[in-house]
Amino acid sequence: MIDDFLTVIPTDPHWQPGKEAADRASAALSGMLPDSDARLGLRVQWHDGVEVIICGSNLEKISCPHCGAQCATDWWMDTVSEGYDQGFPHLMAAVPCCGALTSLNELVYDWPMGFARFRIEVMYPGRSWLTAGELAHLSDALGHPVRQILSHF
Ligand SMILES: [Zn+2]
Repeated sequence: MIDDFLTVIPTDPHWQPGKEAADRASAALSGMLPDSDARLGLRVQWHDGVEVIICGSNLEKISCPHCGAQCATDWWMDTVSEGYDQGFPHLMAAVPCCGALTSLNELVYDWPMGFARFRIEVMYPGRSWLTAGELAHLSDALGHPVRQILSHF
């Protein structure tokens, strides 16, 4: 079973929109999908706590935003599951390469991943990356900058 998702999240992991802004952004994203099948897979979710949105097998590497070294996936998974167990009171972690204190949300994810308390998710989106113009349009609709994640499971 192969599942593909296109997920749009606010760049601030703690930020949540009101219902109206979420509806506007969801309608805007719906209009960017190729057909009604893809639109059926769209759903909007608010989360009580911060959730991690992973890209599944699309992940190639995670790098340090300060020194550029690659972060070991084991370190990342341990750090994230520890934070998750505590409900992510914060996302700060000292990276093992250079010891810099950084937000897990600001590590360099290739492909992109992120942390959020709100998401608009499309299962089987039937398309690839949103363009910069489309992202800007979604940011306007939501009232907050957004990040996109393409996941493959
Ligand atoms: Zn580093």
